[in-house]
Amino acid sequence: MNQPKRSVPGWIAASAAPKHVNGRVGGGVAPTVRSTPAPVGLGLDSVAVRMRMVQRLAASGIQSPSVLGALGRVERHLFVDSALVNQAYEDTSLPIGLQQTISKPSVVARMIELLEGAECVRASGKLGRVLEVGTGCGYQAAVLACVAQQVYSVERLRGLHEKARNNLRPLRLTNVHLLFGDGMLGYAQGGPYAGIISAAGGESVPRAWLDQLAVGGRLVAPTVRSTGQQALLVVDKTSHGFTESVLEAVHFVPLKSGIA
Ligand code: SAH
Repeated sequence: MNQPKRSVPGWIAASAAPKHVNGRVGGGVAPTVRSTPAPVGLGLDSVAVRMRMVQRLAASGIQSPSVLGALGRVERHLFVDSALVNQAYEDTSLPIGLQQTISKPSVVARMIELLEGAECVRASGKLGRVLEVGTGCGYQAAVLACVAQQVYSVERLRGLHEKARNNLRPLRLTNVHLLFGDGMLGYAQGGPYAGIISAAGGESVPRAWLDQLAVGGRLVAPTVRSTGQQALLVVDKTSHGFTESVLEAVHFVPLKSGIA
């Protein structure tokens, strides 16, 4: 296993950090999404460890250059507690407080790659507006910001909404809009969406999500099946109605209504 030898590098302020780069689908490698710290003292540990993570994702079947590029740019260790940074580039979910977790990189990559398979994305070559339900610590929102034109991300727990705000502030991602509220209601003002992605698993897909999806758009959400297990559900909205596919089993925190 290629594990980071050391994981808490010393930092210096980065110069000329990109505000954000709207990567086109299939776009090339772009600079790191960072406004603060560049690793120093321990060489390029953070970059090298992230690149190894990207290689593992590619080896496991992720093909989209824009998704791999985004995972390579966003510094996941900045989104986890300092006690957990040594695990930040492992393919594992980690606690982020309030009994919630940051999703596994492989699942983030898989779900965003699925979003890029939407008909409207294939037709236009770009991923337009995306709604994320479950901001958590903001990691996936930062990854989405690299591949989508606009990202609306809703979180129902105030503590995590604020944590995400703090985590994302230094990155100055002008295309990410963080919202505090019940994501089961979607966010009609930001729609219609080319993609809707849920980071929490419900019993069914809320009607609001289907309504707010653009024709040609795609929804990717963990959903509880009749077996009681969660699986990834992909719903495409066409001019004739909806088509649905059930993919692999997944394990997400539950989708809950209301705010707290
Ligand atoms: N996107 C995060 C994962 C967060 S975990 C990442 O980058 O890793 C899933 C999040 O969904 C939790 O923070 C949980 O509070 C939130 N959640 C659950 N139900 C929700 C709802 N109805 N609206 C908004 N957020 C919700």
